[in-house]
Amino acid sequence: MKIIIIGAGIAAVSAIKAIRQLNQDIDITVYGEEQHFPYKRIRLTKDLANGIDEEKLLIEKDDWYEANRVTLETGKKVTKINPEQHVIILSDGTIDKYSSLLLATGASNRVLTIKGIDKTGVYTLRSLEDGQDILKQAEKSKRAVIIGGGILGLEIAWSLIKLKKEVVIVEAMPRLIPRQLDGDSSQLLQKVVESHGVTVYTGTCVNEILGDDNVTGFITDNNVEMACDMVIHSTGICPNIELIKGAGIETNRGIIVNNRMQTSVPDVYAAGDVAEYEGEVLGLWNIASVQGDTAGKNMVGLTEAYETPATPMVMNAFHYSLFSIGNIDDNESDHAIIDEPVGNKYGKIWLRDGVITGALILGSIKELPPIKKAMDQKVKFSEVYDKEYSLGEFLSLAKEKQTKKEPQLANSML
Ligand SMILES: Cc1cc2nc3c(=O)[nH]c(=O)nc-3n(C[C@H](O)[C@H](O)[C@H](O)COP(=O)(O)OP(=O)(O)OC[C@H]3O[C@@H](n4cnc5c(N)ncnc54)[C@H](O)[C@@H]3O)c2cc1C
Repeated sequence: MKIIIIGAGIAAVSAIKAIRQLNQDIDITVYGEEQHFPYKRIRLTKDLANGIDEEKLLIEKDDWYEANRVTLETGKKVTKINPEQHVIILSDGTIDKYSSLLLATGASNRVLTIKGIDKTGVYTLRSLEDGQDILKQAEKSKRAVIIGGGILGLEIAWSLIKLKKEVVIVEAMPRLIPRQLDGDSSQLLQKVVESHGVTVYTGTCVNEILGDDNVTGFITDNNVEMACDMVIHSTGICPNIELIKGAGIETNRGIIVNNRMQTSVPDVYAAGDVAEYEGEVLGLWNIASVQGDTAGKNMVGLTEAYETPATPMVMNAFHYSLFSIGNIDDNESDHAIIDEPVGNKYGKIWLRDGVITGALILGSIKELPPIKKAMDQKVKFSEVYDKEYSLGEFLSLAKEKQTKKEPQLANSML
């Protein structure tokens, strides 16, 4: 019996932990294209300004793999799989046979088709090497333009500001962090970001990156032309599915999995950024970890069903904190608790049928634990329909309900 895992990220590590909890004997081999042991990719944007220290980034130290009897082959790319014969093929032609296979190949950053995107001085941040390259270029650069005003773009911007660079953000959507913030909160955030000297263009696209071989500037679709020494693009991800082309595994945007992380082909599982569950590729660390855990358990015989956990988006940058969790669409809720913007603070909690469906708080993240707990436990807040609550009053109510021995679960109230 042998499990092969392709890809050495958090999904792989979580799967290994789950497998070893249940089975000490099965052989586990992991093939990872990168030269490194699995590391905390999420730290790359946050640690950028302090330099990137591989040792500090490792998810587990190298002796952990030995202690768990995992054969970890770094710097090894798998190029093909043949599910009928239960084999995988490496780029050097080596063939390995599995009884169960986990595809945990993650994602790559989306590359826009902009004129000049292939020039020297254009970067994207996905790997440790990308981070090191960005830092090297930043040393000799005065101004950087960041294409994409999502959370990663903003974290990169903050790191570059800390490195005393001039920073311009160009976001195609009408607001920053468009997927996780509403209009009011995004405007507030933009003010905070601009107060640190960042120039922000929203509703604007970079049309062309200028320069002969090296980047010298950019032009937007509304004819802003500006000089810059480097471009960093951060505009979403594409699951790494090339490897399975022709293998008969069902894909859409990612590899389609059921709630046991099984693909459409027997003995082949997928988890993390490469997997698509119920039409979604969420591209989040916690999701990759939980999916890896679910896959690992199911691969060694346990029947465990995955449920997508409510996973917050948290940002700590520009001396400012914020979080967004769940669904923040007004149209999909029937009630909202709102603290209108005061200074740099703002908060809104969305409910449907008395249960929190989403929340957004700017200026603080201490409210996250009680909100997340209430969401996880589906605590019912029927009282919000009878009386007007401020955000503070509502949070006190949430904490009060959670300290009760028997939480009022939504189901028990139906
Ligand atoms: C800079 C940055 C910051 C982030 N910040 C956050 C954050 O704050 N919060 C959050 O929730 N998420 C964040 N994310 C997203 C998060 O890091 C990912 O969701 C998570 O890493 C996915 O884990 P994974 O194991 O599925 O894939 P990955 O971490 O992508 O690992 C997959 C590995 O498989 C390897 N691989 C691919 N193809 C092959 C092949 N054919 N053969 C062998 N190996 C292969 C890849 O090289 C890679 O090492 C961030 C991502 C980035 C890039």
